[in-house]
Amino acid sequence: MRCGEYYPVRAEMEKLLPRVKNLDVIDAPPETVDTTCRSIRLISPKGHEFEFPFAAHILDRHLFESRLGDLARSHGADIDIGVQAHYFPDEQGGWVGPTREKAVHGDIIIAADGYPSETAERAGLPERAYAGPYAVATNIEYLMTDLNVEQDVAEMYMDPRYSPGGYGWIIPKGHGRANVGIGIREPYVQRDWQIRDLLTGFIEKNTVASKRLTGGKKASMIGDSLPVDGPLSRTYSDRVMAVGDAAGMVMPTNGGGIQTALITGDLAAEAAVNYFEHQTPLSSYEASWKDQIGLEMENSKLMRQASDRVMAHGFLFDLMLRIMGTKRIADVIMCQIPGGMGSFMRLLA
Ligand SMILES: Cc1cc2nc3c(=O)[nH]c(=O)nc-3n(C[C@H](O)[C@H](O)[C@H](O)COP(=O)(O)OP(=O)(O)OC[C@H]3O[C@@H](n4cnc5c(N)ncnc54)[C@H](O)[C@@H]3O)c2cc1C
Repeated sequence: MRCGEYYPVRAEMEKLLPRVKNLDVIDAPPETVDTTCRSIRLISPKGHEFEFPFAAHILDRHLFESRLGDLARSHGADIDIGVQAHYFPDEQGGWVGPTREKAVHGDIIIAADGYPSETAERAGLPERAYAGPYAVATNIEYLMTDLNVEQDVAEMYMDPRYSPGGYGWIIPKGHGRANVGIGIREPYVQRDWQIRDLLTGFIEKNTVASKRLTGGKKASMIGDSLPVDGPLSRTYSDRVMAVGDAAGMVMPTNGGGIQTALITGDLAAEAAVNYFEHQTPLSSYEASWKDQIGLEMENSKLMRQASDRVMAHGFLFDLMLRIMGTKRIADVIMCQIPGGMGSFMRLLA
């Protein structure tokens, strides 16, 4: 899918997820990078700004995914584009293909079909149990052109009116372009509004964003749902492992899931090799991701749950952000529990 295309540079990911053993998997080929941002600016419901340094590439995701495809092919993968595939389980793994008759057999299946994952569900993983209204965000985004936004700052807008239960973003893509979107969650949408109306409201009426976006043109639109409640309570069965969005591997406080999809994909591949070479059970996959990214995913979920308590109330949310200040806000976005606030966050959550 195309997305915000926000992709922290490797040095930031080393700080964000310090226990990941193989970060080579997230190296983006230079030609897939549209531009690079040097900081994040968070804008509170009342327009207060908090900016902190954080370097990230903004990808051309089409190109990025086609390079990933080239890499997979160079290791012998067959890629069949445009096929709606289904998983037909059996005792020895199962069959994957458009129909049972046209399917191919695999001893190990990796569910990488995004959220919600039909494959994970058919494998008996708790995909359906996950799907609560607080656990899933709906995201929508325009690619806008003819803009005069700062090209090296990514902005996150906390705006309960136009991104209820989530946040709005302006992510510059170079040459006067930007990804402009909102994420929302259903329990926070009080009025009888459609998500497209909310995005229009964000673009035209958010006091800060509307000034930044004046004169911009909408070039294309995408939308999708995103799991924001942390990983599934079980991510493997005897023969299936779920990775990326299919396993809920999105950082709940920032909505980033490209790199965690790559990292969990890599760990699942390693578990598959160990399965074939040493008959190691696939539980080793879950043990690995818990060891390498489990703590940050857990922290991030805790803080998302804590901020759920104040998100709907613009005034309170604004006050909380001002009390926290820039350093602690940066910690929350980066999946760390801010210093001295652990008990408070746990109490709120
Ligand atoms: C609007 C929006 C903005 C976002 N912005 C960012 C961002 O800036 N930075 C970031 O890190 N993350 C962002 N995310 C999250 C990120 O896009 C996902 O976490 C990431 O794409 C997960 O990768 P994945 O491979 O697990 O799933 P996906 O990217 O969803 O890929 C799953 C693939 O499987 C295919 N598929 C599904 N079912 C079938 C089937 N039956 N047969 C064949 N193919 C199938 C789908 O077509 C898709 O190509 C954003 C998400 C959205 C919705």
